[in-house]
Amino acid sequence: MKIVSTIKELNVHITTAKKANKTIGLVPTMGYLHEGHMALATAARKENDLVVMSLFVNPAQFGPNEDYESYPRDLDRDMRIAEKVGVDFLFAPSTSEMYPTNGGIQILAGPQSEILCGATRFGHFDGVLKVVTKLFHLTRPTNAYFGQKDAQQLAIIETMVRDYNFPIEIRSVPIVREEDGLAKSSRNVFLTDQQRLQAPVIWQALDLATTHYLKYDNDIEATRLAKEHIETNSNGRIDYLQMLSYPDLTEVTEQTEKILLATAVYFGNTRLIDNIIFQRKGD
Ligand code: AMP
Repeated sequence: MKIVSTIKELNVHITTAKKANKTIGLVPTMGYLHEGHMALATAARKENDLVVMSLFVNPAQFGPNEDYESYPRDLDRDMRIAEKVGVDFLFAPSTSEMYPTNGGIQILAGPQSEILCGATRFGHFDGVLKVVTKLFHLTRPTNAYFGQKDAQQLAIIETMVRDYNFPIEIRSVPIVREEDGLAKSSRNVFLTDQQRLQAPVIWQALDLATTHYLKYDNDIEATRLAKEHIETNSNGRIDYLQMLSYPDLTEVTEQTEKILLATAVYFGNTRLIDNIIFQRKGD
């Protein structure tokens, strides 16, 4: 595995691969790798000649009071994990390498970014699209891999790729969980022992609501039950817990085929997200 920190060097490797007609799988990450990231890389390894993983804590997607400074970072550890899962190039640029200028041109995520995480994380998805667009241009991937863990992000990226004709296949990978159901996340290291013990209520609540909804077709009661489960069994503070049509992220209607049940819950200052996507019960 090669570690690449400059755009110039990356371009040499990508150009060589393209000339040799090799397929390229891109796995964008913010590092502090865990089994979720590894699942993305493993899928990329299976489906492409070359795997490029990017590792960049993207300041553009963090708000002023969010955890950009404290976000966990450990390049040595990430290098070992990436090598083990068969990454060919680990692209780990500095912030000035990625954003040498601020020409003022912005990419704005549309209505799908105004709800769920976007309702409180203003500009977050604009920042995601900014870095993802740059990574797409820099690595010219055949396939790009994203986790269903960030379902809203996945839906927004798919919309951009479709509407702006990016010649890239977006591949989604199911959520990887701990044994007790907690979705793997780089932010889980911030949980205290007590919070870590309580955090599986998130998954339990989503599971409970999905089962209830599929049985009784009552989204209001299903989400109420899920909220109650979190509030009575933990100190978690719910940011949102909502059912929407997926991937358009609009209200669930008779026409809805797939439902996204998504939540964000704070344990102390640590904000955890999770979701389930399921088929709406037909009439
Ligand atoms: P991050 O480093 O948190 O920005 O995540 C990088 C990519 O890994 C994103 O596409 C995430 O959706 C994906 N990812 C993060 N956690 C998981 C997980 N538990 N299961 C599957 N994919 C994940």
